[in-house]
Amino acid sequence: MTEPVAAEVARDFIRDIIQADLDQGKYREIVTRFPPEPNGYLHIGHAKSIALNFGIAQEFPGRCHLRFDDTNPVKEEQEYIDSIQADVRWLGFDWGKNLFFASDYFDRLYEWAEQLIRDGLAYVDDQTQEEIRLSRGTLTEPGKHSPFRDRSVDENLDLFRRMKAGEFPNGTRVLRAKIDMAAGNINLRDPVLYRILHAHHPRTGTKWHIYPSYDYAHGQSDAIEGITHSICTLEFEDHRPLYDWFIEKLPVPSRPHQYEMARLNITYTLLSKRVLTQLVRDGHVAGWDDPRMPTMAGMRRRGVPPAALREFIKRIGVAKANSVVDVGMLEFCIREELNRTSQRRMGVLRPLKVVIENYPEGQTEELEAINHPDDPSAGTRKITFGRELYIEQDDFMESPPKKFFRLSPGNEVRLRYAYFVKCTGVIKNDAGEVVELRCTYDPATKGGNAPDGRKVKATMHWLPAANSVPAEIRIYNQLFANPSPDASNFAADLNPQSLEILADARIEASVAESNATEPMQFERQGYFVRDKDSTPGKPVFSRTIGLRDTFAKEVAKG
Ligand code: ATP
Ligand code: MG
Repeated sequence: MTEPVAAEVARDFIRDIIQADLDQGKYREIVTRFPPEPNGYLHIGHAKSIALNFGIAQEFPGRCHLRFDDTNPVKEEQEYIDSIQADVRWLGFDWGKNLFFASDYFDRLYEWAEQLIRDGLAYVDDQTQEEIRLSRGTLTEPGKHSPFRDRSVDENLDLFRRMKAGEFPNGTRVLRAKIDMAAGNINLRDPVLYRILHAHHPRTGTKWHIYPSYDYAHGQSDAIEGITHSICTLEFEDHRPLYDWFIEKLPVPSRPHQYEMARLNITYTLLSKRVLTQLVRDGHVAGWDDPRMPTMAGMRRRGVPPAALREFIKRIGVAKANSVVDVGMLEFCIREELNRTSQRRMGVLRPLKVVIENYPEGQTEELEAINHPDDPSAGTRKITFGRELYIEQDDFMESPPKKFFRLSPGNEVRLRYAYFVKCTGVIKNDAGEVVELRCTYDPATKGGNAPDGRKVKATMHWLPAANSVPAEIRIYNQLFANPSPDASNFAADLNPQSLEILADARIEASVAESNATEPMQFERQGYFVRDKDSTPGKPVFSRTIGLRDTFAKEVAKG
C-alpha cells in the first residue's frame, strides 16, 4: 500500500525548493524545525508555521524538530514550554524524539563566540544600549565605530570571560560581532551576540550570566541540528546575510539555508505575543485560553477542531508576500468540519414557556430524533414530549410582520420531531411582556406530517420542560471591533460585545449529563461545546460558531 504523498498536497514555493533540492541529490533527508520562544502561548500564526514545518517532514523523507528558542530567561517560563508542546500535539503533529532547546547549545555557542574573538571578528563593547543604538546610523547614514572596537584579542577574551563569570552588572557590556558599521544592511552593523543578564533560566538555572541574542543562537542551533531548510517569516529576510555570515565564519557541522515566507494575518485579529500577553495581563480576556483569543489554547477551549485549523492552513497556502486573510475563511473551515462531524441536539438560548392545553396533564411520550442528518450511523435518540415545553423567544411574535412564518397567534408551525402546534393565547406579565404561550397540538401530526397534507411554513426547535435543564450559554463575537485593529493601541479597538452571556438558556438533559468534550450542533443555533467552567448543577456551553455567516452580512450592511 502506498501512502498519500507529495502529489496530493498543495504545492508552494518552499515545497518546490525542497523538491528541487531532492531531485538534485543535495540532501537525502529534509530536516525542518519549529522554533518557538517559550514566552507566551502559541497562536494561529504559529499553527501555520507548525503545519508547514511538520507537514514537510511528513510529505518528504525527513523529520521536524521542536526546538525551544529559550535564550531570554526574563520572559520565558515552564508554563509556556508545556503549553507549546500540548498545542503542537493537539494540532496533530509529533516531534518524536526530536525535542531540543537552544539552551542545550549554550556551551558550544560560547566557545564559538571565543573563537570569533580570537579571529578578530568580535569585541566587547562597554557602551550603553542607548549609545549603541545612536551610533548604529540610519538607512541613509553609516554607523560610527565604537571606541572599544579595536580592543586586543586578549583584552576581549578577558572581559568576555569575566562577563560569563558574572562579574559585571546587567547592561554594562555586550559582545558584538565586528562586521561593517557602514553596511547597507543595518543587521550587519556589528550586531550584539551576547548580553549580560543575571537571571534564572528554566533549564540552566543560575549557570549563565550572559545570554546569546536570537541572531547569534538561531542559525548555529539550526547548524548543530543539521536543519536543511530553516523556514521563518519575512521580517527575518534582512537577517539572512547575518545568518549566513555566522555559518561561514564558524566551524559549524552543517550549512542550513534560511527561507522566508509570509506571516499569517487575519482580519479582526492581532497575532502578536506582545499584544496577547497584554490582553491577558490587563484582564481584557479571562486568560490565554479565553475562547475569544486567537491562541490554540483558546480555539481548543472554544471547540475548534484541529482538522479545521489544518484545512484553513492548507487553503491559505504559503506565499512570499504578506497579506491579510479574511476571518470568514477560518470560520468557513470550522463550520465545514463541525457540520460534518458534530451530533445534533436541541438547545433553547432564550426560553419562552409553552403550555399545550390539549395535551393531557401528567402524560409524556418519547419521540425519536436523529443525531446527524447525513450520517445514519450516528443513530437516534429519544426526546420527551409533554404538556410543558420551551421554545425560543425569537420564534414567537404577537403581531408579526408579513413574512414572519414562525409562531404567532392563530398560526400553526411544526415542532421538530414532534407535532404541529398552533398558538391560542398569550400570557403577559405586569410589564406587558409575553411570558408564556398557550397552544394546542394536533395528535394526528405525530412525527411532523399532517395526514390531510396541510403544510406549515416553519419548523422550530424546542425542549420539554421536564427533560431539559438550565444552562449558561456564552456567545462569542470578534474580540476586536475593527477589521484591522491597531496593535499599538489595541484596547481602543476592543469589541465591547465580544462576550454575551445567556444565563437562562436550556439544553437537553442528556447533553448536560454527558461529559462529551466534542462540540455539538444545537439545531438552528450553531455549534456549542461544554466549557470547563461547568459545575454539576450548572453546565456552561460556549458557542464555537454560529450556523451562518451573519457576521459578514452585518459588515456588508455597514
Ligand atoms: P509573535 O510575532 O507573535 O510575537 P514570534 O515570531 O515572536 O511571534 P516565535 O516563538 O519566535 O514567535 O515564533 C516561532 C515560529 O513561528 C517562528 O518561526 C515564526 O516565524 C513563526 N510565526 C510566528 N508568528 C507567525 C505568523 N503570524 N505567521 C506565520 N508564522 C509565524
Ligand atoms: Mg520571535
